[in-house]
Amino acid sequence: MTIWERMAECVAALPEPFGRQDVLRWFTIHHPEVNTVSVSTHLQFATSNASPESRGAFSNRTPLVTRVGRGEYVRFRASGDEPFPAVVVVEPVHTPPADQLVTIPESVDIALVGCGRTKRSAPSPAADLYTSSGFRKRRAVAEDAAESWYILSADHGLVAPDEWIAPYDVALDSTDSDYRSAWGRWAVTRLVHKAGLLRGRAVMVLAPAPYADAIQPHLRAAGADVHEPLSGLRQGEQGAWLTAEVERRGITLAPRVPESSSPSPVAGVPTRQAVAEALLTFRQSNEKLHASRLGYAETAEADELLKADPFAFLLGVLLDEGIPAERAWEGPYKLKTRLGHLDPWLVRHQREEVRAAVAERPTIHRYVEIMADAIVRAAELVCSKYNGDASRLWAPGSMADEVDRRFRAFHKIGVKKAAMAVELLVSHFDVDLADLSGTNVAYDVHVRRVFLRTGLVDVDDLGIVTAAARALHPTRPGLLDLPTWLIGRGWCHASNPNCAACPLTQACAKLTSRNVRA
Ligand code: SF4
Repeated sequence: MTIWERMAECVAALPEPFGRQDVLRWFTIHHPEVNTVSVSTHLQFATSNASPESRGAFSNRTPLVTRVGRGEYVRFRASGDEPFPAVVVVEPVHTPPADQLVTIPESVDIALVGCGRTKRSAPSPAADLYTSSGFRKRRAVAEDAAESWYILSADHGLVAPDEWIAPYDVALDSTDSDYRSAWGRWAVTRLVHKAGLLRGRAVMVLAPAPYADAIQPHLRAAGADVHEPLSGLRQGEQGAWLTAEVERRGITLAPRVPESSSPSPVAGVPTRQAVAEALLTFRQSNEKLHASRLGYAETAEADELLKADPFAFLLGVLLDEGIPAERAWEGPYKLKTRLGHLDPWLVRHQREEVRAAVAERPTIHRYVEIMADAIVRAAELVCSKYNGDASRLWAPGSMADEVDRRFRAFHKIGVKKAAMAVELLVSHFDVDLADLSGTNVAYDVHVRRVFLRTGLVDVDDLGIVTAAARALHPTRPGLLDLPTWLIGRGWCHASNPNCAACPLTQACAKLTSRNVRA
């Protein structure tokens, strides 16, 4: 008799509605040779309103059950059959007897732990940020059962336990289905990035339903052998299961990190906070140098134009790609000299003239066609949306993250250049933007290399680098941009980094074998 046939026998025998626990108990009594993971998996395969992905190879079979509530089922009825019985069942939460507990393999390759709502108020390693007893129990089971474990975060997708993150206020159950769907894909992508391919590896999900439901189709699609011991259990039952599992394994919960404690560097061991402090000290010592001029263009005239003409600044941001920064920031001045003006109302109609000016030797940019096109498109957008005045992009009082979004609406300005532009406006042009927590480091090759080698991050990933910056300086992450960029350019070269002379030498972990992704 197949497991499917036994499942049919089970659902025919149980009074409706029945819970997942009832199904597991029935199998324990009648077919103890079938393990609980197989029962859970077949229950999912047999559920009419599970997604086709979740129903796997059984999606063509007539289902056996319909889910009518969290972990609650009735027998499947084809349309026209008798209606579902009214389901109004209020049951007290019970702790399943030890011999009926949902069991999991003693060890799995990876455990994924859902984050918790209660958090410390200061940036912390992710493992210490969440303080609820539910999270600490999930963490304890994960640490005991899995070779490696990660945290599912509504805001960050997926983070390693030692990654620093700042407190946030996002819970997956308060997001819409589009977000949850994208979130699930994102979290699994990050997991593969950190832990490698998942095919054939046992992954245990210890997370509330919104997290588990969003991630499990993508885990299965990636070939993981997924175990969900909390699936179908009500909140109180999940707590009871975790308590029993912690006791059964004889493990103790990690202590809560007191609110007042700050990371205390062990003598001689660099910490991420120490690196951040060294970066800010370096920034301060260079403040004068960079306050007196923009500090990027080759000539003082070009710098003056960048300060005086907002459209020139916008074009400088746009051109800063694939060529040395000094040459890029010189571009608007050269363009103005060659065109005889830098008026966006005229530029938008001068496609040929702009192309010729960019192509004139020495060329303004190595990508003549692409950048000439981007300049004309920028002029069009400035005229149509900002009435020809580029400074309206960063009108005083605008939120920093909104200005970031406005920059990204321009062709050839992505996440990296937008972050750089916002930070430059605040630090060099004294533009009065609101909520500077919306600034960030630019995901530039120099910044990425320094973040990796100092140990600020372990993975070269846009989301991880920017989250690390937010965690280290939540009120203004962008402050870390300039010093990091300067150190990357000046000392932390791709090959032969000059650690001895580097301003970060005391604080840096000097992981010099690390390099950025191509
Ligand atoms: S040059 Fe050396 S000390 Fe400086 S950031 Fe790079 S690895 Fe660290």
